[in-house]
Amino acid sequence: MTHSDTAGASLAWMDGAIIPIADAKIGVTDWGLTHSDITYDVAQVWDGGFFRLDDHLDRFAASMQIMHLSVPQSLDEIRAILNQLVAASGLRNAYCAFVTSRGSQSIPGSRDPRTCTNHFYAWVVPYVHVIPEQVVARGAKMKIADGVERISPASVDPKAKNYHWGDITNGLYQAIEQGFDTVVLTDAGGNICEGPGFNVFAVHDGKVLTPQSGVLEGITRKTVLEISAALDLPLEVRDISKAEFLDADEVFITSSGGGPTPITQVNDRIFGNGAPGPVTMAIRETYLDWRAKGPLRAEITYA
Ligand SMILES: *Cc1c(COP(=O)(O)O)cnc(C)c1O
Repeated sequence: MTHSDTAGASLAWMDGAIIPIADAKIGVTDWGLTHSDITYDVAQVWDGGFFRLDDHLDRFAASMQIMHLSVPQSLDEIRAILNQLVAASGLRNAYCAFVTSRGSQSIPGSRDPRTCTNHFYAWVVPYVHVIPEQVVARGAKMKIADGVERISPASVDPKAKNYHWGDITNGLYQAIEQGFDTVVLTDAGGNICEGPGFNVFAVHDGKVLTPQSGVLEGITRKTVLEISAALDLPLEVRDISKAEFLDADEVFITSSGGGPTPITQVNDRIFGNGAPGPVTMAIRETYLDWRAKGPLRAEITYA
């Protein structure tokens, strides 16, 4: 990264004030902390503009609805807060998180979630690549977690972006201790789900495949589905077994933290002699183009 990529300050918006991120705190009795009873979203800022901010705001609203959370701020107000926050940070490439937490109970010890006062806050830090660029450059290695399943969608709905990372963190320990860079989890039926903050795709006989269930519907995933249609690539959104995933020609991940990103090894299977595949790179190129210019951007007015 060049200096200009990270120049700026990490800040938070809390209770109407913009403050240094280190000063942003939530209470020890907040259910967001004690029960992971919290939802959030992350929008990326690239070269001074949000990418697909309205899609992130819509998903944030849907996540809040799924979790019975509500805040006084409207989506228009949240959009204005995020713009103000990023402008104040001066960051032109940023990771902008916005969060609704259940809050603390008004009646101490109450088990009734309705006695909690839900609250909104946001924070911004320099742009994050979920897989660091130097790891992508040498080839990112992914492990399919063994004996650690993605939490059932019947227990925690993955469509609401959440902090229930017990399964993912457990999988990360397993993968990293065995020399891998990242992990992907399967469901109880052995189908591929997702990894730490990213969706997964496989390219098989020229077809672009991604899991249909047990996943957050990523905005980057959505963009890649649109790009596949624009590039006339055959597309299937359906279950992918572990065996089919390992038999793919190419594998890549998608996240607002880095866009479509090639994976060159899954378990002991190496794809394309360790180089990113052509379909992945064509999709990535189009993504970078759409992110750099066009109707999906919302420019930020810096002071
Ligand atoms: C945020 C996230 C993703 C990726 O979503 P994008 O909107 O593309 O950034 C995928 N899976 C999980 C579990 C996530 O938290």
